[in-house]
Amino acid sequence: MSDAFLQRLRGLLPGDALLTDAGSLRRYAHDDSRRQGEPLAVALPRTRDQVAAVVHACSEHGVAVTARGAGTGTTGASVPVRGSLVLSLERLDRILRIDPGQRLAVVEPGVINLDLQRAAGALGFFWPPDPASADRCTVGGNLACNAGGPRTVKYGATRDNVLSLVAVDGRGRLFASARPLSKLATGYNLTQLLVGSEGTLAIIVEATLRLQPVPAASRALAAAFRDVEAAALAVTRIMAQTVTPSALEFLDGKSLRLARAHAGDDVPDAGALLLLEVDGAADSLDTQEAALRRAVQVDGLLHFAAARDETQRARVWAARRALSPALRTLAPEKINEDVVVPVAALPELVAFLDRLERDSGILVVCFGHAGNGNLHVNLMLDPDEPAQAAAAPGALARLFGKVAELGGALSGEHGIGVSKRDFMPLAVDPVALGLMRGLKRVFDPAGILNPGKLLPP
Ligand SMILES: Cc1cc2nc3c(=O)[nH]c(=O)nc-3n(C[C@H](O)[C@H](O)[C@H](O)COP(=O)(O)OP(=O)(O)OC[C@H]3O[C@@H](n4cnc5c(N)ncnc54)[C@H](O)[C@@H]3O)c2cc1C
Repeated sequence: MSDAFLQRLRGLLPGDALLTDAGSLRRYAHDDSRRQGEPLAVALPRTRDQVAAVVHACSEHGVAVTARGAGTGTTGASVPVRGSLVLSLERLDRILRIDPGQRLAVVEPGVINLDLQRAAGALGFFWPPDPASADRCTVGGNLACNAGGPRTVKYGATRDNVLSLVAVDGRGRLFASARPLSKLATGYNLTQLLVGSEGTLAIIVEATLRLQPVPAASRALAAAFRDVEAAALAVTRIMAQTVTPSALEFLDGKSLRLARAHAGDDVPDAGALLLLEVDGAADSLDTQEAALRRAVQVDGLLHFAAARDETQRARVWAARRALSPALRTLAPEKINEDVVVPVAALPELVAFLDRLERDSGILVVCFGHAGNGNLHVNLMLDPDEPAQAAAAPGALARLFGKVAELGGALSGEHGIGVSKRDFMPLAVDPVALGLMRGLKRVFDPAGILNPGKLLPP
C-alpha cells in the first residue's frame, strides 16, 4: 500500500476505523467457504459519506475494494483478492425507520437480519428473506446475494422484497436506485439489478425494504417418505395444486439422521422428509392442510401429520436450521452447492444425485427449499481419502452439467462468488453474459469493486 494512499485512508477513517494489524487482516479475510484472502487493510466506516470517500480514494489509487457484511457467505464472494481493501459495513447498523402505513423499513446495510425481524415483528410485520444464518448475516449481504430461505416459496426472496437502494458506484458516487414506491414504471430497474450483484457493481449503504404482515395463524406439517424419489414427486404434486405452502423443505435420509441427532424422535425416521407450513386466517388452516394431505398421496408416502404443539415445531425447525453446520460432523470438508432446477425436474435431479454418489465415491447429502426447486447439494470429503479429493472437481462439473441440462441454474440463493464463477457459461446465455460484463464496466469502469467474483475471467 503506498504511503500516500494509507495517509489518505487514515484521514478519512480516524481512530479504529482503519485496521492494518495482522490479526484483523486474518479475521476479515475469509467467509464460510473457508477460502482465505490477503487484504491490504480493513475499513470500518460509520457513514455513507465515508463509504463514498473511501471508494473514491480507491478508484483514484487503483486499489480493489471488497464489501463485507458478516462474512457468512459460502462462495468466497467476500474473500478479498490479494491487495484489496476490505470495506466492512458492520458499523452502518441502524434501523432508520419502520413505517407500517407504507409496509416498509429503511435500514443501513449492517443491520443483522434477525434484529430487523424482531423490530418489524413488534409491529406485526416481517421481512421475508429468512436464511438459516439470520442471527449473524446482514441485510447488505442478503441484498448482495439475493438471499432466500424457507419462506421464499410463498413470499419471494430478497429481490422480491426491496423497493429501493442507496449505493456507491465504482467512482465513489452516491446514488438512489429509485424512489421507494410500491408501484413504479419509470426507467430501468437498477434496484433489482444491484440485488445479487455481490458487491461487483456498487456498495449498498441504505435499503428500503418491503414488509409483509405476520399471518394470523400458521401450522407446521411433516410428510415422511420411503425414499427421495417419492418425496420429490410429492413436491411436484404440491406445487401443481392451488394452496401455496409458506414453507416446503426437503431432507434426504442422511440429512434426516443428522436432524434426528439434533431433535430426537420429533423428526421422523424415514428415507426422506418434507417439512411444510401453511399460514393465513385461522379458519383457513384445516382446508389448506387437507389440500396438502391430498397432494402428498404418492406411492412411498409413510406418514403425514401436523406438529403436535409449538415445542415440537420449534425443535424440528431448529434441527433444519442446524443442518448446514452439523454436516461438518460427517466430514470435515464439504463442497456446498445450492443448485436450482424447475420443480418438475426435481425427481430427475435427486435420482441423478444417487448415481453421482455411487460413481464418484463421495458422500452426497441433500436438503433444501424444494418448493423453489432449490436444493443444497453437499459433497462431503474425507481428507484421509485422497481419491475423493481427486474425484471432486469432476463430480462438481457433472452436477452443474446436469443442472444446466435440466434447465436449472448454478445457485438459487448463495450466489456465485469465486467457487462457481468458472461454471457461469454453462447456465447463462452467452449474450447475457456479455451484457453483464458491459454493465460491470458502466458501474465500475476501473474494475475495482470486488474483482475476481461472479463473472468468469
Ligand atoms: C450456516 C449458514 C446457513 C446459511 N443459510 C442460508 C440460507 O438459508 N439462505 C441463504 O440465502 N443463504 C444462506 N447462507 C449464506 C449467507 O448467510 C447469505 O448469503 C448471507 O446473505 C450473506 O450475508 P453476509 O452479511 O454474511 O454477507 P458476506 O458473506 O459478508 O458477503 C456476501 C457478499 O455480499 C457482498 N456485500 C456484503 N455487504 C454488501 C453491501 N453493503 N453492498 C454491496 N455488497 C455487499 C460481499 O462483497 C459478498 O460479495 C447460509 C450461510 C451459513 C454459514
